[in-house]
Amino acid sequence: MKAHDGMYIDGAWRPAAGTDTIEVVNPADEQVIARVPAGTAEDVDAAVRAARAALPAWAATPPAARGAVLGALRDALAGRLDEIAGTVTAELGSPLAFSQKVQVGMPVMVAGSYAELAAAYPFEEKVGNSTVYQEPVGVVAAITPWNYPLHQIVAKVAPALAAGCTVVLKPAEDTPLTAQLFAEAAHEAGVPAGVLNLVTGLGPVAGQALAEHAGVDLVSFTGSTAVGRRIGATAGAAVKRVALELGGKSANVILPSADLAKAVNVGVANVMSNSGQTCSAWTRMLVHTSQYEEAVELAAAAAAKYGDRIGPLVNAGQQERVRGYIEKGIAEGARLVAGGPEAPRERGYYVSPTVFADVTPEMTIAQEEIFGPVLSILRYEDEDDAVRIANGTVYGLAGAVWAGEEAEAVAFARRLETGQVDINGGRFNPLAPFGGYKQSGVGRELGAHGLSEYLQTKSLQF
Ligand code: NAD
Repeated sequence: MKAHDGMYIDGAWRPAAGTDTIEVVNPADEQVIARVPAGTAEDVDAAVRAARAALPAWAATPPAARGAVLGALRDALAGRLDEIAGTVTAELGSPLAFSQKVQVGMPVMVAGSYAELAAAYPFEEKVGNSTVYQEPVGVVAAITPWNYPLHQIVAKVAPALAAGCTVVLKPAEDTPLTAQLFAEAAHEAGVPAGVLNLVTGLGPVAGQALAEHAGVDLVSFTGSTAVGRRIGATAGAAVKRVALELGGKSANVILPSADLAKAVNVGVANVMSNSGQTCSAWTRMLVHTSQYEEAVELAAAAAAKYGDRIGPLVNAGQQERVRGYIEKGIAEGARLVAGGPEAPRERGYYVSPTVFADVTPEMTIAQEEIFGPVLSILRYEDEDDAVRIANGTVYGLAGAVWAGEEAEAVAFARRLETGQVDINGGRFNPLAPFGGYKQSGVGRELGAHGLSEYLQTKSLQF
């Protein structure tokens, strides 16, 4: 696969400061497909300086002109849809059709939404005898995970650029090739030199150097709660803005009045999609005791249908981790009704679509984020019990509620401690704020709420 052997800094591909590299592995066949430079603190420093130097001019660029650049970026990404989707499939393993439609299609939509928002957003308002300005926060450190490699980048870089901020991007080590294609697209779209900079590298080296850099004004991080906690502490000590999108353990609550078969089938598809590597996946299905066995049967059949259509997990470590959780589920007494811990293929980091029944709220598989194709089905006695179970984890990222009447589902959803709820299978909305309650994070991405994360307010009194 095509790979740059340098960093994209100040509008050009420049040699890395060190000689270490990171191997990029195709998780479907375990072959090394490319190598990219492993950035050091020196690379990070050069990128932050470039971002700072470019800040005054970009911040002063009229929002509509920034929007026009984002429109060109959307077009550049759309024009390379097949190339980027092929790269995502090669380094992440998601099936090609999913890469095209979701892995690239969704960020193209999000980039387009920020092209429009930049032009339409009220960056200035009158409040009594004051004028309140929304100004860019400054230099942004964007640290992203591998599960939706392009989406995670666009969900940070597009609003940051719309706001007038400049960015240093440190993508996940498993998926740096998609990030390099993103930098190429930004270059093609006319993003001025220094406004977007890319440093590939390891989290504890390049990522940490970036999060700690004194020249960074805001750290926007998506990834695990463990690393997020650490980044939050570092940013807090430096009194620096921070946005954290972390893990999840979302509940899919099926009320007795719902269309059970539809709710179960959509719920299984939601968990198995992207091989379960979706932070907002509804990994706990909550079913009323009267419909429990029927739901279990439906879910097991739906999971079995996935069989060969599911992609691998991103790397050997994730495969081991997920298989470990499946073994733990069995050991703690849950009933395995589909899949299991055995690797379904000899080559590649595959895990079978797995469903557990008789899962109780305190079990490890009901509490911890597994990040693989594993669904736990829990039983509830009444609505209060369902609320208690749904809210009974440290997370609060997403969820779903199904009911015969929308109003019944909405009333239940309002009792959930979570940032997003899909009602009766509601569609993805790129303008709806996305982010967590509790330990799922701080701040929101997407739409106007996502844009406001990159703005600070100044008021002038007259
Ligand atoms: P991770 O936390 O290990 O890594 C995320 C990013 O942080 C990577 O770029 C990594 O290189 C970097 N990093 C690692 N250590 C660092 C450090 N000490 N300092 C600075 N940066 C560091 O997570 P991951 O394994 O890539 O992703 C999986 C996790 O991310 C899951 O827990 C998942 O729920 C979460 N996630 C959350 C969301 C969300 O929107 N809430 C989205 C995707 C993934």
